[in-house]
Amino acid sequence: MHEFDLIKEYFTWGNSPTDVIKGVGDDAAILEILPHQQLVTSIDTFISGVHFPENTPSEAIGHKALAVNLSDLAAMGATPRWFTLALTLPDINPEWLTGFSLGLKTLAQEYNCFLVGGDTTRGSLSVTIQVMGVVDKGKALMRSGAKVGDSLYLTGTLGDAAIGLKTIQTDFSMQKEHRDHCQQHLNKPIPRLKESTIIRQFASSCIDISDGFLQDLGHILKASNVGAQITLANLPLSTALKTLPRKIAINAMLSGGDDYELLFTVPQKNKELFEKYIKKGGDGYYKEYYKEIGVITHQAGSIIDGTGKKLSLTGFKHF
Ligand code: ADP
Ligand code: MG
Repeated sequence: MHEFDLIKEYFTWGNSPTDVIKGVGDDAAILEILPHQQLVTSIDTFISGVHFPENTPSEAIGHKALAVNLSDLAAMGATPRWFTLALTLPDINPEWLTGFSLGLKTLAQEYNCFLVGGDTTRGSLSVTIQVMGVVDKGKALMRSGAKVGDSLYLTGTLGDAAIGLKTIQTDFSMQKEHRDHCQQHLNKPIPRLKESTIIRQFASSCIDISDGFLQDLGHILKASNVGAQITLANLPLSTALKTLPRKIAINAMLSGGDDYELLFTVPQKNKELFEKYIKKGGDGYYKEYYKEIGVITHQAGSIIDGTGKKLSLTGFKHF
């Protein structure tokens, strides 16, 4: 199969949105952006054996390569629009490509993010995606916006993906349904874009947790020049992680990677409205889903747990 046939078969997705003036097929893509908006863009590379285990199903690779990029847009409060794909393949394997393109396309369609171009080369398997989104001028959420007294919130649960990786790379054993849950979190993370549309109305800062809770909280604190007091007991553990020895679960929760949950701060003046909003969430989903886990303090860069113990940013050392 020729490179151009490959692009046509797997990466040309038909009807493009009206803001795509020219997509796949010319020397470059032409995209339209509205006068009151700003472009928000991010890029991530996935290398086989480094960023995902070599035996990862191609559908999961397609999904995750886009999901982690969409998660960065969610953290900025941006709405996804377009992405480009640089793909390096060791060979042309139709079965692999079918799965990869399905994982990619399914997620892209769910969040209205359209593939507008890319590059295809031969070599060791590597996937680079650059995502582009838009935000109303001046409305992007940044790491630097946290202020003393703001409440810290978190979406979802932490540590599931890290345990999922452990079950793949070691002989660490878990009950099957819990193992499946953790591996699902690792392979098919859900970018928190729906949540982001709510969060961005109320938050002062936001980050997506990709390198472990403590480390990424540290990024907000450093950028905002503040500290935080965390109530460890309020950090959300999934049912699956609750079945594990506490030490292992807490370590995964605080320092494990690949969570792709959003960590954000809400100023006191917005808190009542935010709480009201998330409690309204129909079936109670929102209410259970967002957790208040602490507060922003004066002591720059330090993280204190509920009992006054200092937590290390480079990894949790207390267990
Ligand atoms: P050029 O040689 O001008 O760089 P290419 O031959 O690399 O162009 O690509 C031809 C067209 O196909 C371009 O529009 C490019 O964006 C698109 N393309 C190439 N590889 C991919 C891919 N993996 N996914 C999506 N579009 C791709
Ligand atoms: Mg060209």
